[in-house]
Amino acid sequence: MAATTVYKEPAPRVENTENPLESMMSRFNVAAEILGLDDTTYEVLKAPDKQVIVSLPVSMDDGRVRVFEGYRVVHNTILGPSKGGIRYDKNVNLNEVKALAAWMTWKCAVVDIPYGGAKGGIICDPSTMSPGELERLTRAYTNSMKDVFGPDRDIPAPDMGTGPREMAWIMDEFSKTVGQTSSAVVTGKPLVMGGSLGRTEATGRGVMVSCLAAMGKLDMKIEETSVAIQGFGNVGSWTAKLMFDKGLTIKGVSDISGAYWNDNGINIDEAIAYKNAHGGRLEGFDGATPMDPDDLLTSEVDVLVPAAVEDVITEHNAPFIKAKLIVEGANGPTAASADPIIYGKGISVVPDILANSGGVTVSYFEWVQNKQGFKWSLDMVTERADRIMTEAFEKVYAVSQKYNTSLRIAAYIVAIDKVAQTYKYRGGY
Ligand code: GLU
Repeated sequence: MAATTVYKEPAPRVENTENPLESMMSRFNVAAEILGLDDTTYEVLKAPDKQVIVSLPVSMDDGRVRVFEGYRVVHNTILGPSKGGIRYDKNVNLNEVKALAAWMTWKCAVVDIPYGGAKGGIICDPSTMSPGELERLTRAYTNSMKDVFGPDRDIPAPDMGTGPREMAWIMDEFSKTVGQTSSAVVTGKPLVMGGSLGRTEATGRGVMVSCLAAMGKLDMKIEETSVAIQGFGNVGSWTAKLMFDKGLTIKGVSDISGAYWNDNGINIDEAIAYKNAHGGRLEGFDGATPMDPDDLLTSEVDVLVPAAVEDVITEHNAPFIKAKLIVEGANGPTAASADPIIYGKGISVVPDILANSGGVTVSYFEWVQNKQGFKWSLDMVTERADRIMTEAFEKVYAVSQKYNTSLRIAAYIVAIDKVAQTYKYRGGY
């Protein structure tokens, strides 16, 4: 993973560079070609198993009924029940959910947990909805998905716009539907009702652990390393906090309100306290100076952590990136068209399906605890999650060396190989 690494893989070619499904498929194609995946398995792994679209009539507080559109895509269940979050956002669309579902399949395979991949989403703007409206919407969605969800079938979790509160409603609604308490049907629940210690910070922790592992390979010293983090939601703020605690210098962060820079490093504890006291936004935080959010990704830092949405690193801004290492906290933050530019510049990338898999790993622990009826200590969760992340990183790294390829393609190779081998044993019709 030296800065001079030459990548021999074919450059991904995509028509629509900012289409997450095509971005995912173009990497899948490169990895499948290197692996020599046979045509039948290729076709099986390419298409999602199931795509469900539902209309959800919900009574709004003003007395009117609004009909929302919701999705659940089960990409694959070869390794086990499908797993993946539910996104509430006004930009949700089926294409995006399909890509996110496939990424869940690859993510679970990379960290070697016994799950397939799925994703759900509802087109809505949760910031403009009351708790009552959100509860009715979540319950309506759960009810519509009662034949899809199940503790051994398809297990949702939080994603953008959802959190423990929504997971509690899902657990309750599903339990009512099946006539028994079903804790393991959803993960990311509040602690008091079967959530796992360490789940909230799990994704950020995995980003930090995989970043340190990559820094080790690149000979980067903690005390000399600066970081910019795009996104200050659950993933971005926990990544920032855990990196800050390790001694990395977080020079730039951004959220929906803007981007903020401090050349001497931002005190992340103060930034988080400020955010919590100001409606979840950093606007007005005086421990850093506002900057143009577009400049954050190309700022003068060693490590860049995109931890917000898809397709923020594109062929347009990639040539100007100065970081040596990109660690993808978000799902799909780099458009495939940017890959050859990034490789050409010798920038190392810890890809999303590896870097942010700490979240689903601890979701898996939550599900195991629910099934065991036994609560693990935080130390147990952290130690096991860190070990899984480190082992997954080392495996992907070894494969990248073996095939002389990027960590991204190596992660896809590891994942596709595991799913393809299992498919061979299980067989089809
Ligand atoms: N939504 C998270 C992700 O994209 C977590 C999924 C889960 O825990 O099932 O990885």
